Amino acid sequence: MSDQTKDGFTTRAVHAARGFAGSTGAVMPPVFLTSTFASSNADGFDYTRSGNPNFRLLQQSAAALEGAGFATCFASGVSAITAVVSTLRSRDLVLAEENVYGCTYRLFDKVFAKFGVRVAYLDLSQPANWEEIRRQRPTLVWLESPTNPLLKIVDIAGITAVAREVGATVLVDNTFASPYLQRPIELGATLSLSSTTKYVNGHSDCLGGIVATNDAGWQDKMIFAQKALGLQPSPFDAWLTARGQRTLALRMERHCANALELARWLETRRGVRLVRYPFLPSHPQHDLARRQMSGGSGIVIAELDCSAEDALRFCRRLRLFTLAESLGGVESLICHPPTMTHASVPPEVRRRVGIGDGLLRFSVGIEDMADLIADIDAALREVVR
Ligand SMILES: *Cc1c(COP(=O)(O)O)cnc(C)c1O
Repeated sequence: MSDQTKDGFTTRAVHAARGFAGSTGAVMPPVFLTSTFASSNADGFDYTRSGNPNFRLLQQSAAALEGAGFATCFASGVSAITAVVSTLRSRDLVLAEENVYGCTYRLFDKVFAKFGVRVAYLDLSQPANWEEIRRQRPTLVWLESPTNPLLKIVDIAGITAVAREVGATVLVDNTFASPYLQRPIELGATLSLSSTTKYVNGHSDCLGGIVATNDAGWQDKMIFAQKALGLQPSPFDAWLTARGQRTLALRMERHCANALELARWLETRRGVRLVRYPFLPSHPQHDLARRQMSGGSGIVIAELDCSAEDALRFCRRLRLFTLAESLGGVESLICHPPTMTHASVPPEVRRRVGIGDGLLRFSVGIEDMADLIADIDAALREVVR
């Protein structure tokens, strides 16, 4: 374990979460289904809301994969977001990327606004807008990259340098990339947050969230939030997430290869108005994506030349892509943002930010690519005349 930092990513993923075998020799950890612990135990556990061996194992391996000193696990991505925002005070300002995840927006708007936390939204993919960080001096800069659903790329190292000048903390929601493809802490961010529900667990069988950091003060605040706000996962979900994490590298390689192939193929099809994928040369921030990420991840956006009804008809016609929210599992999913994740956004705003009626978000799984393409081809032929 002492040489762990020299090991490669996949070696760390397999070996970082070990060390609770006791005298049994078990190669894999048990699930510690206990709410409480005998007082004065050598490991210092007392009550599962404030710590459990399964949390500790997951946190060790998550920190190792993020290239961070610490990580704290939570019940969901939204719990992790709640933990970070709960550290703010009334009148504190958050400068957030305007294309943030919908539930992040809802938490700011419907919950934390009541406690006086102020949030201003900006297009952080435009360096010209970074001047606002110098001018407004926020407590926290909140960004996502790639963003949902449009896959805009935000320059993490560039923003971090500007934020440091005014003492602002940078948080990156790293859910879409996963620590295999992008490590915000190494790029200078103070906090890297993931909904482990998506790629990190990768099997669509539990929810979870992680906040990783090198800053001991922030780590204390996260551990405090975990127990004080009751944001901890169940030991079983922590165990599942630690198991999923061991194969993250292999799954991401396949997600990236499949998604790039699908994106290239879609670009050649009639009736497809626009295709967006970070590792396609046609992506407006392709160079930045290549600098900041080691692969384009598994999400592809395409806009069909059709009505919202026909786009939904296309989704329902697919055999291998389930029409569902969420993403990042081994199985392929499809989402129609205008009627699903972004249905609450007014139509004129949707159009202005680029969410057209025919927009589709493919979460490309690890299946055989020939089967996925045949499935999409058949559905496209029906919808596009
Ligand atoms: C899903 C998601 C979240 C929320 O995570 P949950 O585990 O569903 O609570 C946060 N950010 C992004 C980018 C997501 O995709």
